Amino acid sequence: MADKRKVGLLGGGQLGRMLIEAANRLNIQVNVLDVEGAPAKQVSSHDGHIAGSFKDAAAVKRLAQASDVVTVEIEHVDTHMLENVSGEVTVEPSWRTLRIIKDKFAQKQHLKSHGVAVAESVDLEGKGMEGLKEVGTEFGYPYMLKSKTEAYDGRGNFVVRSAGQVEAAYKALGDRPLYAERWADFRMELAVMVVKTKDGVLTFPTVETVHEDSICKLTYAPPRHVKKETAKRAQELARKAIGAFEGKGVFGVEMFLLKDGSLLVNEIAPRPHNSGHYTIEACPISQYEAHLRAILDLPLPEAGLRLREPAIMLNILGGNTPDSHIKVANKALEFPNASTHLYGKGEARPGRKMGHITVTAPTLAAAEKEIQPLIDLVDDMKG
Ligand code: ATP
Ligand code: MG
Ligand code: MG
Repeated sequence: MADKRKVGLLGGGQLGRMLIEAANRLNIQVNVLDVEGAPAKQVSSHDGHIAGSFKDAAAVKRLAQASDVVTVEIEHVDTHMLENVSGEVTVEPSWRTLRIIKDKFAQKQHLKSHGVAVAESVDLEGKGMEGLKEVGTEFGYPYMLKSKTEAYDGRGNFVVRSAGQVEAAYKALGDRPLYAERWADFRMELAVMVVKTKDGVLTFPTVETVHEDSICKLTYAPPRHVKKETAKRAQELARKAIGAFEGKGVFGVEMFLLKDGSLLVNEIAPRPHNSGHYTIEACPISQYEAHLRAILDLPLPEAGLRLREPAIMLNILGGNTPDSHIKVANKALEFPNASTHLYGKGEARPGRKMGHITVTAPTLAAAEKEIQPLIDLVDDMKG
């Protein structure tokens, strides 16, 4: 057994499931707090799991009592509950970090105060529809309207393209705590997984992410047509951004590469991240294993975070029929360099993340060639 300490996990979705796949190899027990049969629980058999909601204070307390280190697979948690148990159990990353990051506006302010470049943003809470109009005058159109909290996969964002759209934007998001961001006219999006350990801040390679309808679709490692110097700068920016937060574990840093070559941080996730799935096959140590090693103070040599071979990750989303994701996964099984992951999530709503495929190859061009038919299939089955 690599470690006798037990990890408590808030949330048992696909990120938790892949975390447990890594933990299983090291004989590390992960106690999951989520509903019975959640994706993470399906791959983990022991009596330490807790059935319930990670939003229930009593359940969080029970998880803390059964675990040595508590961590999260989602940032939309009640950080006051975590603060309450932090006297009796180690919480990684720190509840303070989770509290800042779960509010995207507070997160931006925090990064800005630490000298990390982010898109210019304006608080709109309590300013009503008038506030949205004023931002339009100040930033021009389009601008991005965002919910500060409970946002993921673009659910919480609205691109305000003209003054005529302000009303529709307010109708869509007006009941949520809002802020606005200046439009980032980016050349592409980059991401870096960062690991914060007791000794310092380490980085995985820079990848390119492609979003469709605000949901991550593809990840390219390394990024296409990006200079080594730029990829290095992205790693440095990611390292600096995560250096501004307390606590241990992996963090996903999403960035915009602007047309003038400069970089802005888009947002941070205080946990394993979709843009780091490729690390399972492409790096000696995956983001999931790195997270476990970091929160348990186990050895973590930075050379283990290197890219062994170029890789492309394709998300399998719920599509135009209830079983379209199964068809994509089955097709992928015919490809010799494709590793297929299904998350055991049950019903497939259009756009729901049901699984992913990672193709690795000696060159990125070879990986692109191999994965293209699968991208075409995913496009055909789009819901
Ligand atoms: P996630 O699922 O990654 O948590 P999210 O719902 O929190 O996503 P964001 O990361 O804020 O959403 O935005 C989703 C996508 O929208 C970005 O990846 C990018 O493509 C686009 N986007 C976000 N902010 C801006 C901006 N200021 N200017 C231009 N495009 C933007
Ligand atoms: Mg987000
Ligand atoms: Mg995002």
